[in-house]
Amino acid sequence: MNKFIPYAHHDIDDNDIKSVVEVLKSDWLTTGPKIQEFETLFANFVNAKFAVAVNSATSGLDISVTALNIDENSEIITTPLTFAASANCILYNRCKPIFADIDKNTMNIDPEKIKEKITSKTKAIIPVHYAGQPCDMDAITEIAKEHNLYIIEDAAHAVAAEYKGRRIGSISDITVFSLHAAKNITTGEGGVITTNNEDVYKKLLLLRSHGIDRSTLQRHGSSGSYIYDMKLLGKNYRMTDFQAALGISQLSKAEKIRQIRESIALRYNKELSKIKEITIPEVINNVVHARHLYPILLDKKINRDKFFESMRSKNIGVNVHYIPIYELSYYKNLYNLAEKDFPITSDISSREISLPLHTLMTDEDVNYIIDSIKVCIGELS
Ligand SMILES: *Cc1c(COP(=O)(O)O)cnc(C)c1O
Repeated sequence: MNKFIPYAHHDIDDNDIKSVVEVLKSDWLTTGPKIQEFETLFANFVNAKFAVAVNSATSGLDISVTALNIDENSEIITTPLTFAASANCILYNRCKPIFADIDKNTMNIDPEKIKEKITSKTKAIIPVHYAGQPCDMDAITEIAKEHNLYIIEDAAHAVAAEYKGRRIGSISDITVFSLHAAKNITTGEGGVITTNNEDVYKKLLLLRSHGIDRSTLQRHGSSGSYIYDMKLLGKNYRMTDFQAALGISQLSKAEKIRQIRESIALRYNKELSKIKEITIPEVINNVVHARHLYPILLDKKINRDKFFESMRSKNIGVNVHYIPIYELSYYKNLYNLAEKDFPITSDISSREISLPLHTLMTDEDVNYIIDSIKVCIGELS
């Protein structure tokens, strides 16, 4: 039998390793010069004014909500078809997550459903670029303007994605990227926040490091002073310098990695579009898809869980993205939301399967996966 093909895999080469080792041999392991270099390069990459590196996207989302001074008990709207972190950041800040159903074609939050959920307590929207496909940002931006809401984009899947010719990361008040090992580019664990707002930027820098106003680097050396002040109740969400070095090296390959992922997605499209029991992911006009995930939808008459087991038994690391947030015990206990209020999410989440998609996959891997899908569909229909 073939080797297990995971749904995601990091792409680390000798240059990546060399840049990390250089920092490990230097004087600064954390809060040093590589962080700033990485932040400048990342901001340039997405064409944003400012970037703040953090130890995860989860941390980034947490301090993004904090940085916007949103009152406790405010409502923040997000999608239920996402990873828990997209909604957890709302709870960390003592606000209430409100879920708006998704669009059945893109599986992204549906702007029309956002409108239905707006109340006098709504303060922000957290759209998630599911699978790496940008949300309908024009529509979401218009809603935000009309109701005076902030937008924090969860772009964990969307490094190198574009919306109408603009890289994701430059459009909204704040955008948060993940550099977790399973994401398109990685620092092991890590995240980056981008913004064009200088006040927000300064606040994020404070919140990342205890709310303290001068970094270790600034206090270092013969003319350094011991004096600092703590201005806000911040966290320790700092990224290390060796991770930033890896980030720099990974970022230089981000576009190449996206293109490889795109070419695998197109091969899947070509073969899987011939199978009537499968719906392939739709890409809307005027976007560049980051291709973080390749989510297919199975026809209702194919049992998804049996299909999952059958593919796994063939050593294919299929996955499911996601169990809707309102179905997770913690959220069930808190809100007990009814599945019937999210008809699209509940239908799609019961039929979705993510196929392996990463740069280490060979042509043979892709062919094997496509052939195995045909076998499984045949057995289960
Ligand atoms: C991975 C992910 C996160 C969290 O990223 P971390 O860097 O692991 O904290 C948040 N949102 C979405 C949609 C994700 O997929």
